[in-house]
Amino acid sequence: RKQTKAGNYISEIKEADEYTIVHEPIASIDLMERASRAFVSIFIRHFPVSYKKILVLCGVGDNGGDGLAIARMLYALGYDLEIYIINHSTKQSANFKKNLERLQNKIHPVEISEIDEIPDFNKNDLIIDAMLGAGLSRPLEGLIESTVEKLNESEAEIVAVDIPTGLFADSLNGDKDIILKADYTITFQTPKLAFVLPQNGDFVGNWEVVSIGLHEEFIGKLESRYFYTDSQIAEAFIKPRSKFANKGHFGHALMMAGSYGMIGAAVLSTRACLRSGVGKITVYAPECGYAILQTAIPEAMCLTDANKAFLETLPKLDNYQAIGIGCGIGTAPKTAGLIEEVLKQVKVPIVIDADALNIIASDKKLLALLPKGAVLTPHPKEFQRLIGKKWENDYEKLALLEDFAVSHQCIVCLKGAFTAVALPDGTIHFNSTGNAGMAKGGSGDVLTGMILALLAQGYKPEEAALLGVYEHGLAGDRAAQLKGTTAMIASDIIESIRF
Ligand code: ADP
Ligand code: ADP
Ligand code: MG
Repeated sequence: RKQTKAGNYISEIKEADEYTIVHEPIASIDLMERASRAFVSIFIRHFPVSYKKILVLCGVGDNGGDGLAIARMLYALGYDLEIYIINHSTKQSANFKKNLERLQNKIHPVEISEIDEIPDFNKNDLIIDAMLGAGLSRPLEGLIESTVEKLNESEAEIVAVDIPTGLFADSLNGDKDIILKADYTITFQTPKLAFVLPQNGDFVGNWEVVSIGLHEEFIGKLESRYFYTDSQIAEAFIKPRSKFANKGHFGHALMMAGSYGMIGAAVLSTRACLRSGVGKITVYAPECGYAILQTAIPEAMCLTDANKAFLETLPKLDNYQAIGIGCGIGTAPKTAGLIEEVLKQVKVPIVIDADALNIIASDKKLLALLPKGAVLTPHPKEFQRLIGKKWENDYEKLALLEDFAVSHQCIVCLKGAFTAVALPDGTIHFNSTGNAGMAKGGSGDVLTGMILALLAQGYKPEEAALLGVYEHGLAGDRAAQLKGTTAMIASDIIESIRF
């Protein structure tokens, strides 16, 4: 399976650089040229020539070398720019020197300022940050640190080359570290682990990956614990429907959901399941949901619990290929009893969400009953309850997530922007789709239904989780296109599901 790497990246990409240089082969300076050209190809799509005055801030290492090459290319395209070299008298990298020469050799030399004092920045400037790159190993200091502080106070718009100056690519920065707050980051070859962590959102801004053609063969051999689910990877999971298929081929799902006042959660999850290819679905809900469900979703069968308000009695589980449980069920003691029975008796793939997770979290005995291969879809608060502790930072959160998935041999989709799917083998897969318009009640219920549909169709639990999370985010992105992120609601996500 082809994966794009998202982490453990620093030394590996350095190695990938070196491998590419030797095996392609390509000279190091030419690889820098290629990376800079790739940056420019993205940059010009977002910022037209006459957009703003551009200040290119360069360090004297390879990130600064990229900055100089980018400046030369933008200059040739007619951009209005000034170049500032910070710490010019410290040791310059070979590629930096070469690019400085190339810039100075132009027929109409560009203005280059070597600065010992920070210039003033104003809101009409567009800054290209090429001060320090992804190899940073210690907090900022000196002139670069004060430049970044000043930039952070200014209203200038900032585009970072590869990574915002001061941010560590895959490890925790100190509390007091100064880190550039970029509006955009155009990063080379792979996303950096730091980019998918909420605590770094203010620094990275919107980011985009641009391929610089590092040796594919080598990247494929990298051993990383962190992956990034992009369209290529997700779409490769999709099984086409055969021409002579009938509904029996796509499974019969059981969705156990809803309670008095939360039948909507059952409606959303069931409808999302139907939109994701399930052959048949039975929704099991308390009595009060019967008329609502039958009216709202004529495609679904409805089975009711004798209890009017919440789920209490175990239905027959034998007839179904997969089970979903938890959306809107509440935490009544009798519902907890039902969850225990389900965990004890279930023999088919299961996706567990919301209050089912809260019930499990409240009782160690239930936690021990979690079936291997179960798919859990907690949001961060639910995950905190499951593990019974809080984390100090996002790196610690990832460690706890990995630990939980490995020790329980289950699949945990920790939801949020860049939902992290942890697999029993200890790898973590960050999702690439979705948007803040999904930060609304009901969005998660939609995901549970989608994963249930994939499980019922025979996708492996890992595939159902990765593909379900990806398609859920993609549907959210389509809904946002149609309605806008503020207006869109969970029902819009369902209507935008397209397989
Ligand atoms: P890159 O390859 O990311 O451009 P280098 O590691 O080659 O960066 O460093 C470029 C220059 O920046 C060197 O002169 C180095 O001493 C300086 N530098 C590196 N780290 C820091 C830091 N944390 N604060 C200030 N200057 C730094
Ligand atoms: P609910 O229980 O109300 O249905 P959840 O919190 O369980 O909601 O799920 C919310 C869903 O929306 C998750 O799939 C999550 O990944 C997604 N989501 C929430 N906020 C964002 C965001 N800022 N960016 C991308 N996706 C988001
Ligand atoms: Mg939820």
